[in-house]
Amino acid sequence: MTDLHTLLNEATCELNTVTDLKSLDDCRVAWLGKQGKITAQLKNLGQLPADQRRDAGQKINEIKNQVAALIEVRLAILNTEKISAQLAAESVDVSLPGRRQSLGSLHPVSLTRERISQIFMGMGFDIEIGPEIEDDYHNFAALNIAEFHPARAMQDTFYFDDGKLLRTHTSTVQIRTLKEAVKENRLPLRAIAPGRVYRRDFDVTHTPMFHQVEGLCVDEANNVSFASLKGIIIEFLRVFFSQSIKIRFRASYFPFTEPSAEVDITCQQCHGAGCRICKHTGWLEVLGCGMVHPRVLAMAGVDSEKYSGWAFGVGLDRLTMLRYNISDLRALFENDLRLLQQFSGLTA
Ligand SMILES: [Zn+2]
Repeated sequence: MTDLHTLLNEATCELNTVTDLKSLDDCRVAWLGKQGKITAQLKNLGQLPADQRRDAGQKINEIKNQVAALIEVRLAILNTEKISAQLAAESVDVSLPGRRQSLGSLHPVSLTRERISQIFMGMGFDIEIGPEIEDDYHNFAALNIAEFHPARAMQDTFYFDDGKLLRTHTSTVQIRTLKEAVKENRLPLRAIAPGRVYRRDFDVTHTPMFHQVEGLCVDEANNVSFASLKGIIIEFLRVFFSQSIKIRFRASYFPFTEPSAEVDITCQQCHGAGCRICKHTGWLEVLGCGMVHPRVLAMAGVDSEKYSGWAFGVGLDRLTMLRYNISDLRALFENDLRLLQQFSGLTA
């Protein structure tokens, strides 16, 4: 039999050099495993004379227990080292400055909607809303846009399978508001309707979803006129841009108003001198308006002999771009935080 003390020394030396848990386990197998060096000693007992076996067996077991104890000690040391290393790696430097919370901001389109709402509420208008999923009647027919009217082709519409559609303009709210007002005997009325509208368009100046504000005033015929419409529009644009801008009305055509006009303001970029944005005309178109077509009033159940009205529709996104000098409409809907952060703290 190999000298047991030599074996113990050998085992001690080997265990002391072990630096990780995997090597420690290998070591345990090499000494105490089925093929291990100490186990081999026990297997050899049978070759000894019978009177020496008991004594030798006891000694080998003692060595075996000592090696097992050494392994336990080493295991405890390695575990402690592992935890210390982990703690060191995951420590928090409390002297580093913290991450501050930053304030959110209103989207520029929301700022514009708020501003327009405030201006019109100041002039006695109510705010109305309507559904974005509409039917053909409210989006077209009730607005005097018959089935084969070319205006339908001008507004490339998103349709659902059941014939419903995404409204192409906020004029739909005119019809709903008028019908309600007639039912509840609430005429005269003055209201604006801000909201999302949808058309199949996508380029520098068009996005499939954009925002409009519809305005509607219906009163007894001698209380409303194109002159009062003009007055309100001019007042609105001057207050909105908070400066004296030039405004002009151009005769135009819409199926739901008669007469109709488009409204231009002096180009905010070149102040009328002519530039790329205004296509060198010095003017920018900002809204469409007109006297509500008597057929539209009649279809909503309003007595068009007694009542008259005017309406306008303005592109919220266009006004936002002009007011905040944003040149690409798509920037409004890309949710780039760098753009949005520039509006932090601004109010309508
Ligand atoms: Zn210009």
